[in-house]
Amino acid sequence: MSGEKSIELQMMEAALSSRRDYVARDAMEILMTRSHLNDKPSDPDWVARNAYAYADAMEAARGNKIEGGEAVVGSTGVPPVSESVPLSGVAGETPATAGQRPALPDAESRIEALQRRVGTKVDGIWGPLSTAAAKTYIQNRKPSPNPWPAQDRASMEAFYGKAGDESNLTTINVAGMGVLFEGKAVNTIRVNKKCAVSLLRIIKKLSTMEVAKPFLVRYAGVFSNRNISNSVTLSTHAYGASIDLDPLGNGEKTPWPVQSTMCIEVMEVFADEGWLCAGAEWGRDAMHFQATR
Ligand SMILES: [Zn+2]
Repeated sequence: MSGEKSIELQMMEAALSSRRDYVARDAMEILMTRSHLNDKPSDPDWVARNAYAYADAMEAARGNKIEGGEAVVGSTGVPPVSESVPLSGVAGETPATAGQRPALPDAESRIEALQRRVGTKVDGIWGPLSTAAAKTYIQNRKPSPNPWPAQDRASMEAFYGKAGDESNLTTINVAGMGVLFEGKAVNTIRVNKKCAVSLLRIIKKLSTMEVAKPFLVRYAGVFSNRNISNSVTLSTHAYGASIDLDPLGNGEKTPWPVQSTMCIEVMEVFADEGWLCAGAEWGRDAMHFQATR
């Protein structure tokens, strides 16, 4: 979706060595490719200049200090993440407080907990068998028949109406459910009429789950009318039929679950409503959930 990578991004990918590098890389990807933050693609030069500042601001928002150019996980007692450890994630059993990532067990035990949950061999190594097991586990939770259309454009338009047509949208009230956008409370969300009630049920359920709070406070948008001419496949965001949660921890190209932090419990809630969970089903873009089969 992002087209040609900038020189800055390519250089950065070649030299990733710390948690801060990874966060900044994800920040660059998001700032460059995600239109829902400002409804138009960002200027790559601006992004390159601002990625580290953005990453550091995100760390600060998570309560993590920046010392010597590296994020130090704040008051949790967890030591700085070394380069051998993937980006921190949110473990299923770990209690979370809104606005701050919970202290994590080590990456391996997070993977083991996930393997146990999806019913595959528990060895702490995430490979193709685990990937397949997670996908099957999520897909098996979905209702049958699935209430949502297939992902192709004809099916989407027949069900949801024309892409980008705001008359297909309605507003759901999520006040008091712990949804934040860039640190500010979100009271209403505009979403396609066809999946609005379902999304409201999902957010209500997530708002009761401690493990879901760190994701709700990093809500990143539903409806976004992307520039169709620049894109081969049209985003489901253009129909108001998908939602993003915690994009910095769950980038479009960041592999789930080893580097990506989306927890399986959040995916389960979406899957129970028949929604596609990109992390488990595509193996990346774990921020993204869409009401398609
Ligand atoms: Zn998305």
